[in-house]
Amino acid sequence: MLEAQGLNHGGERQTAATSPASSAGHTVEVRPGLYLGGAAAVAEPDHLKEAGITAVLTVDSEPGFQAGAGFEGLRSLFVPALDEPETDLLSHLDRCVAFIGQSRAEGRAVLVHCHAGVSRSVAVVTAFIMKTEQLSFEKAYENLQTVKPEAKMNEGFEWQLKLYETMGYEVDPSSAIYKQYRLQKVTEKYPELRNLPQELFAVDPTTISQGLKDDILYKCRKCRRSLFRSSSILDHNEGSGPIAFAHKRPSPSLALTTGSQVQCTSYFIEPVQWMESTLLGVIDGQLLCPKCSAKLGSFNWYGEQCSCGRWVTPAFQIHKNRVDEMKMLPALGSQTRKL
Ligand SMILES: [Zn+2]
Ligand SMILES: [Zn+2]
Repeated sequence: MLEAQGLNHGGERQTAATSPASSAGHTVEVRPGLYLGGAAAVAEPDHLKEAGITAVLTVDSEPGFQAGAGFEGLRSLFVPALDEPETDLLSHLDRCVAFIGQSRAEGRAVLVHCHAGVSRSVAVVTAFIMKTEQLSFEKAYENLQTVKPEAKMNEGFEWQLKLYETMGYEVDPSSAIYKQYRLQKVTEKYPELRNLPQELFAVDPTTISQGLKDDILYKCRKCRRSLFRSSSILDHNEGSGPIAFAHKRPSPSLALTTGSQVQCTSYFIEPVQWMESTLLGVIDGQLLCPKCSAKLGSFNWYGEQCSCGRWVTPAFQIHKNRVDEMKMLPALGSQTRKL
C-alpha cells in the first residue's frame, strides 16, 4: 500500500460530479466521491486529478500503476484478483470496504477500478453499497446497474456477495458459512489435493484442555477419544446457509422447508487435524477414529448427500450414532460431562 501526505484534493471533487464522462476520464461516479472505472482510469494521472481522486483501489491481476510521477499524494490499495468465478474476492471484502470508507471519511474521492470496470470493481463497489446502505445484494446490484448499465460481475462474485449479505456484511472467519466457503475454494484450487493449507484444519481437541463456553465436545463412542468440537460443525439446516450453497447442486425443497435436524443422521464438520493424512491425495474415503479405528463416517471432496437430502460440498461426515456429546466444563479444564 502506498501512503503519502501533503495533498488534499477532497475539496475539488465537485468539479467531476457534474460531468463524469468527460472530466473524470473513463470513470463513472456511482456515489458522491466514489468512482468506478477500468484500467484506462489510472492510465493518465491527470484524469484522477481532474476528478479530485486521491485514493485508488485496484482489483486486478497487476497493480494499476507504478508509484511516482503524477501519483504523489495518492493513497492506494492493491488486491490481486482475476476476473474468474473461482477467485476468492469475499476474503478481501472487509479490507476493500474499509479502505473506501476511511478514504471518503477523510474527504478523499475514491476510485475503485479493475481492468474493464465491469466485474471485479463492480463486485467491490456493490459490497460497499450493500454494507453502507444496508441493502440486499440484488437491490445494491440493481441500483449500481442503473448508474452503470454495463456493470456485470461474474456468477462466482454474485454468489460470494450473497454470502457476504448472509454474514451481515462482514466476513466472519469462525462462521460455518465462511468455513464451508473456504473449503469449497480449496477444493477448486487443489484438485490434486497435495497442499492442504494448515489453517484449513480445526485444532485437534485432544491438544487443548480448555473449552470455550458452551462448547460441546464430541468423543468416539467406542474409545472415548475426543474428535471435534461443536464449533467445527457446519450446520446446513440453520439460517440461510443451505440456500446460499445450493448453487452448485440441485437440492430437494424438503431440506429448505423443514429446518429440522431430526432427519440428519450425520454431523458435517470442518476437517480436524487428525484427519489430515487420510484426506491427502484422495477424493473420498472413510473417516476412522484415530485411536481405535472405529468407523466414524466418510469424506468426499466433491460432496456427499446428507440423509435430509442436502448436498454438502466438500463433505466430512461423522455419523451421529458413532459419537457422544460431552458438555465442556470450562472451569475444570478438560473435564467433561456426558449430556
Ligand atoms: Zn441434513
Ligand atoms: Zn475410537
